[in-house]
Amino acid sequence: MPELPEVETVRKGLESCLVNFHVHQLEICRDNAIASPGGSKEFAKMMRGVHICSWSRRGKYLIASLKRNKTLSDERLGYKNAGFWVVHLRMTGQFKWLDTATPPCPHTRVRLWNDQGKEIRFIDVRSFGKMWWVPPNKTPEKAIAGIKKLGPEPFSKDFNSSYLSKKLKGRTRPIKSSLLDQSIIAGVGNIYADESLFSSGILPQTPSGKLNQNQITKLCSCLIEVLQISIGEGGTTFSDFRNLEGENGKYGGRAWVYRRGKKPCRKCGTIIRRESLAGRGTHWCPKCQR
Ligand SMILES: [Zn+2]
Repeated sequence: MPELPEVETVRKGLESCLVNFHVHQLEICRDNAIASPGGSKEFAKMMRGVHICSWSRRGKYLIASLKRNKTLSDERLGYKNAGFWVVHLRMTGQFKWLDTATPPCPHTRVRLWNDQGKEIRFIDVRSFGKMWWVPPNKTPEKAIAGIKKLGPEPFSKDFNSSYLSKKLKGRTRPIKSSLLDQSIIAGVGNIYADESLFSSGILPQTPSGKLNQNQITKLCSCLIEVLQISIGEGGTTFSDFRNLEGENGKYGGRAWVYRRGKKPCRKCGTIIRRESLAGRGTHWCPKCQR
């Protein structure tokens, strides 16, 4: 599943080609890609004619703010707020920008064109990806339960070692599971949980409440660093993630432990272990992590 660095890479791509995109026409090829009330019909009605103003990200959610031309009946001509377009890529969702008319592949779910016939296409092999139209009188946080329950962004000032130690205090579940919990930190998934635990020298199985203050401080800074490095590399090589140009990220070559089971540790040469933890493949070095 795309995690924070991959979603951030997609956000940058959408921002570069979709700001001021005017949705002239759209086609919903698969109704269940639309999760907002009123389904695909309401979505198509409310999205037709909007201008996309900006793209932001919250956890693994992509959020576009929309505006619409005022009509003659409005008091003054200009633009008015037209709500939000929210997208969650889930396992395999990806956007593709098409400069020229191209026939859709069988996994095409939603297509949007501007008045010059340029297309932004949402393709999703596994079909778990979802999108919403959120009306202007609501915020995405209010309209979508998954956003409402998100913990702080790793790069925000709300995420720091005192916040994390409060959240981990007394918890017996493994620290790996706490890192994957979106209500504790937004946007972290399997890859960056394993990588940040390696960088901070912490065993993934350690009960969350057993970490001392030094370990928590180290974990916070390692997590932020790992995410920043991966954003710089355009996201990960693992998973089906693609940017708008259809390219995979470049982070994979640098991974310390993720998907390196049975290979020697890049730091100490010890064989990397892999085991399932809370249902997720977990990788660690038994010497570097204690
Ligand atoms: Zn090692």
